[in-house]
Amino acid sequence: MSFSQEEITLLNKHVSDIEKNIYVIYNLPPEVIAVLFGYVSRNPLSFRENLLKLIKGKELNIGRLIDAFGNQGFDYSEAKEKARQFHERWIIGYGHSSVAEHAVASIAIEDVSILATKVIEDNRLASYTEKSTRYQIFDKSRYYKPKKIMDSSHGKLFEKTCNHFFDNYNEIIPKMIEFVKEKYPRTKDMDENFYESISKARACDITRYILPAATLTNLAMTANARAIEHAITKLLSHPLDEMRDIGKLMKEEVLKIIPTLVKYADYNPYIDGTNKAMEELTKNVMKFNRIVENKPVTLVEFDPDADDKLVTALLYRYSKYPYSQIKSLVKKMSQKEKEKVIDEFLKRMGKHDMPMRELEHINYTFDIMIDYGAFRDIQRHRICTQTNQELTVEHGFDIPQEIIEAGFENKFKECMKMAVGAFNEISKEFPKEAQYVVPLAFRKSTLFTWDLRELHHFIKLRSSMEGHESYRKIAQQVFDEIEKVHPFLARYIRVDKSSGPAR
Ligand SMILES: Cc1cc2nc3c(=O)[nH]c(=O)nc-3n(C[C@H](O)[C@H](O)[C@H](O)COP(=O)(O)OP(=O)(O)OC[C@H]3O[C@@H](n4cnc5c(N)ncnc54)[C@H](O)[C@@H]3O)c2cc1C
Repeated sequence: MSFSQEEITLLNKHVSDIEKNIYVIYNLPPEVIAVLFGYVSRNPLSFRENLLKLIKGKELNIGRLIDAFGNQGFDYSEAKEKARQFHERWIIGYGHSSVAEHAVASIAIEDVSILATKVIEDNRLASYTEKSTRYQIFDKSRYYKPKKIMDSSHGKLFEKTCNHFFDNYNEIIPKMIEFVKEKYPRTKDMDENFYESISKARACDITRYILPAATLTNLAMTANARAIEHAITKLLSHPLDEMRDIGKLMKEEVLKIIPTLVKYADYNPYIDGTNKAMEELTKNVMKFNRIVENKPVTLVEFDPDADDKLVTALLYRYSKYPYSQIKSLVKKMSQKEKEKVIDEFLKRMGKHDMPMRELEHINYTFDIMIDYGAFRDIQRHRICTQTNQELTVEHGFDIPQEIIEAGFENKFKECMKMAVGAFNEISKEFPKEAQYVVPLAFRKSTLFTWDLRELHHFIKLRSSMEGHESYRKIAQQVFDEIEKVHPFLARYIRVDKSSGPAR
């Protein structure tokens, strides 16, 4: 999009670059940045375009707010130089790194692949808002083309395959809207506009399975300088060109507003070297000749002593005795007495309350195999440890029931067959780049270690009727697994067991 001179003058006050697809948004009241970044979920415009709309629009009177915030006429150059000296001495010189957390940047990231958003969001000490696959229809044939593939004999195959996905996605969407309207007619109490938008959202939820990981999307990221430095380091040490390009651009742009604290972010031979060596070692250690079929949700590790551990931690908090002394007392308590302690701690929780911290002492590890589309959503929960396997076609794909009912099963399966063929062909030469051709329908494995407190939040939010059916099933199954091993601890988790399309 090209801007007028007047618009460029306006934008230059608030964005670190006028053309690049990664830039920092600054010099705005914090709540205006939050509005702007919130828009990315449902609005297809770029952050710059939305910012202009916000400034010019009368709706929120944000233009005046920005004027009041930005036009104070102070010259900060001397202060900036003093700050640089301070940071060089204390953070870089002495390693007092936590100070860097007080410098924050809001980064607009546009036209990067879905694959890249997941790599960026793997940095959990940051805040993100991403273009929704539920509320937005993705533009025809807008996908990332990895140079290595495009310059090789696989270029045509890659393009043909991705174009085929987008042709089908764009063809199916309007028909799917009609289909879901027939299947879920408007109820008398439902507003017509709401019904239109929910029908479109349902159709997008179903059709998104065809989109490839190469699909271009937008992402808003806010993080402190310490977390950004680490994120850039990881990006610059990544095996894929796109991630390294993003890391380079992110560094260039963030340096414009945080000139000292991210300047040493660089390629890290430890990260890159270790990943390469571990991949090689793993290949040699794994002597399997087939992948054993896995369930979507498998609880692989949990603490059989969890009830006692939690009761001990709770009593510890409100007493002055050592943990081991309390634990020996808890061991002698009856089940009923232990349950009373846990009851007392959890029974007052209101609808919007989260349990207090002590639940974090109880951990569960789940091996989750889920379609990549749903993985995208679950990955966003940051209070946990996630270990990702790369995207592949080897675990097969999921097919939404509505695709079958609406008569698109053959088209869908043909797309998936094409994906398998292209992936297998491209991965012979470019195993990492081949991930881009994989549609969101394919299953991906991730190991999640969650604590019981985060599981309360995750299960409540992700089993609710507002969510995508695919991850709702996962949240429900995660709950079932906890209930099997720790029925009493599961009692206070709010789970919605209903099924059906998102509300
Ligand atoms: C129906 C639905 C639609 C959604 N649509 C979109 C969408 O269009 N686009 C999109 O990008 N996301 C979307 N999301 C994802 C959502 O916004 C969250 O990012 C995601 O669910 C992770 O949950 P969480 O933010 O509560 O935090 P978690 O990472 O699970 O953390 C748990 C809790 O810890 C606290 N916490 C964690 N990190 C921070 C932090 N940095 N600062 C302050 N508190 C923190 C919060 O209290 C948080 O609730 C959607 C989610 C749902 C359920």
